[in-house]
Amino acid sequence: MSSFGWQADGGISTIHWIKNVEAIGPYEVETTDESGGKCDCCGNDSSCVWGMVHKVDGPTVAAYWMHLTVGHLNDPGANLDLVVGPWGEGTTANERYSIALLYRQQVDGAPSLMVVDYADRPIGDGTLAATAVARGDVIGTPLAPQVVSIIDAIYEQDGSFF
Ligand SMILES: [Zn+2]
Repeated sequence: MSSFGWQADGGISTIHWIKNVEAIGPYEVETTDESGGKCDCCGNDSSCVWGMVHKVDGPTVAAYWMHLTVGHLNDPGANLDLVVGPWGEGTTANERYSIALLYRQQVDGAPSLMVVDYADRPIGDGTLAATAVARGDVIGTPLAPQVVSIIDAIYEQDGSFF
């Protein structure tokens, strides 16, 4: 299984509120839908694909939205918005947290992913997830392996991008 190279140049801080991090994988990805449009900056075709990540034969652990624009994969990249936590009946935004990521294809074709400022992303508004996770709250914490594992599952199983 592949793993993304984390560009860990941000600060490392400890998080205490993620005590119930789900056991890692294996995960099953269910693509939900997609929409198309034009990029505001260049007019190229853009698309948004979204889906859910479940534990195999188990509960949902995350939802994601990937925003892609033709010609943007190297720069500025593609936004992958993740909302991690339980979904469905009886769950609330208080149990979920959002992480805004930027996917980039590097010159050698290798994918890279970095945590970016959630304030610019729709998932950062508190509707779906009460807590938005900043860069330093992911890298170097127990959350990182789970996030990487979820991303790996999306990468491996959602054929509509990358
Ligand atoms: Zn554009």
